[in-house]
Amino acid sequence: MVDMLPEASSLWLLRLLRDIQLAQFYRPILEELNVTRPEHFDFVRPEDLDNIGMGRPAQRRLAEALKRYRSGVKSKNWVYKILGGFAPEQKEMAPRSDSLLCLHEPEGGLKSLIPEGAVCRGELLGSGCFGVVHRGLWTLPSGQSIPVAVKSLRVGPEGPMGTELGDFLREVSVMMKLEHPHVLRLHGLVLGQPLQMVMELAPLGSLHARLTAPAPTPPLPVALLCLFLRQLAGAMAYLGSCGLVHRDLATRNLLLASPRTIKVADFGLVRPLGGARGRYVMGGPRPIPYAWCAPESLRQGAFSSASDVWMFGVTLWEMFSGGEEPWAGVPPYLILHRLEKDRARLPRPPLCSRALYSLALRCWAPHPADRPSFSNLEGLLQEAWLSEGRCVREVTEPGALRMEPGDPITIIEGR
Ligand code: ATP
Repeated sequence: MVDMLPEASSLWLLRLLRDIQLAQFYRPILEELNVTRPEHFDFVRPEDLDNIGMGRPAQRRLAEALKRYRSGVKSKNWVYKILGGFAPEQKEMAPRSDSLLCLHEPEGGLKSLIPEGAVCRGELLGSGCFGVVHRGLWTLPSGQSIPVAVKSLRVGPEGPMGTELGDFLREVSVMMKLEHPHVLRLHGLVLGQPLQMVMELAPLGSLHARLTAPAPTPPLPVALLCLFLRQLAGAMAYLGSCGLVHRDLATRNLLLASPRTIKVADFGLVRPLGGARGRYVMGGPRPIPYAWCAPESLRQGAFSSASDVWMFGVTLWEMFSGGEEPWAGVPPYLILHRLEKDRARLPRPPLCSRALYSLALRCWAPHPADRPSFSNLEGLLQEAWLSEGRCVREVTEPGALRMEPGDPITIIEGR
């Protein structure tokens, strides 16, 4: 027996459950799993149903009933439409069937569908194009609480804007299948008002903020920057192997999970690669991070793993320039001209060794095919690794950097 009157918007659920003699699960499904539309079941995992006490045979009955219901009602729900495919914006190629469509398989589901009451938001961490990010605390069913970051979709008076919602849900659908030590982890989605993404918290903020932190914060040691580059190349090789291009690689989108660990974040612009040419072509006008973009991206809106490699080179440059803005002072419309006609490249920052800079130059090869792949870069970075040593005697000479025995020394150039 259901003890309360059902809301009109969830009558379909009550009817569906009654038809299969599972009406006793109406309230738990509505209130604990936050399911109010048929499409929300895409994010419900068998374990979620286990948790509300529904046995596996009943789950199978529910899955069949949902299938019947959905084949009868062609869904127009926006969540389903957008999470169900990358079709909007995509031209030129069909999505690959292996790695990409698996993002939406119901049995894969989300890592977790999180009830609204299980997450409380705290201090504001920042805001982006389509959402605001707060520090938060997520209370697991076991009662344990873990610190998280909560990105909420910004909603206007008339509801979320189509493109913002699309980017938000695309970010969710991409992140939900990614698992890598240097890729920011998505814990789950809260299907509330507003929609919220619950992510791993990077307590130390963005790498860009760290690079540009004013004194007395000390600059990051170059050996650590090299370590970050290797972590980044590994994460990008992984993304490429999942058939994805990031399109917005920059130090602002690298988060510090610990003093020596970066994580690639901000998957709002990530797109699947497809077709034989392994390229994604932008379908409409969108904000473009000009100064980070490869010439083919600026000229034709074409993105590929090779254009991500170009952006990796610019990110390397940012790291060694203390977070300076690439091509500062050059108007966006002139950047392509400088790159192509003048064959100009960002200059070598003083702290960047020649070996590393020549690697950046290879990332900025005019033809995408001439650039190294991310897996090549992992090896090349190993070769360009800086020698490390320790100071053996006290240095007190005037004009020289004061050093004491045992101080770590990184040799950027020479012996
Ligand atoms: P956009 O999404 O418009 O490209 P963005 O990357 O600045 O821009 P968000 O991803 O919404 O936008 O993030 C906003 C800010 O919140 C970021 O600048 C970042 O510093 C902070 N932030 C985002 N995610 C986390 C996280 N998981 N942990 C800690 N801080 C975060």
